[in-house]
Amino acid sequence: MRLLRNIYLVGGLDYHLTYTDWPSNDCNVYLVDTRDTLVMVDCGCGETVPSILTHIRELGLEVRDLSHVLLTHEHLPHSGGAEALRKAGANVISHQAAAQALNAGDERTSAFHYHKRPVPVEVVMSLADGAEIEIGEAVFRMIHLPGHSPGSCAYEMEMGGRKVFFTGDVVMNGGMPGRCDNFGFNANAMRSSLLRLLKDFTPDCVMPGHGPMCFTNATVWIESALSLMLRE
Ligand SMILES: [Zn+2]
Repeated sequence: MRLLRNIYLVGGLDYHLTYTDWPSNDCNVYLVDTRDTLVMVDCGCGETVPSILTHIRELGLEVRDLSHVLLTHEHLPHSGGAEALRKAGANVISHQAAAQALNAGDERTSAFHYHKRPVPVEVVMSLADGAEIEIGEAVFRMIHLPGHSPGSCAYEMEMGGRKVFFTGDVVMNGGMPGRCDNFGFNANAMRSSLLRLLKDFTPDCVMPGHGPMCFTNATVWIESALSLMLRE
């Protein structure tokens, strides 16, 4: 499903692009065509990788061009497919805290929520807060936003004059903060991260980890998520 000029949705339970039996869960899986290679942002729980690759082919794109998988955090619905895609040739990238959890494949991935066993990701390249990675015509900037999990981050990029933020479970589903019942959740850190997003950034679009996307005035979603966190 095409979202913006070179950004597609290629997987996720919320749009029924992929299917897994409950309580397993697929996040929104995005694909950015950088005109050089393809970049996936989050990759679902793992068992749906074949469906995701089918969607890429149906867009007329080549699966072999998939060069990078950028992970917004370590939780299974976002990262479970990473090892399979790495073995297929993609570079897996996350924040360092998420990289450690993915490499260990332990409870920090929250796989137990879904009655699954995580598949450790053997090699994860980690980016620091503020680091940029240029892939084809696209530049992705990592913004470390701990709280929902220690390794949570957003990726900022420009597309057609719009500032697009892939926010994972930091801001999702119409301006909600992500769930708080996982190892490493930290409410104070979450509030600080949302406040930082609000004060230091002006996103036009939010591509969240779950639920619908925001294509304009996305600051309103950040304000909503922060307001909800302050009620906790
Ligand atoms: Zn999560």
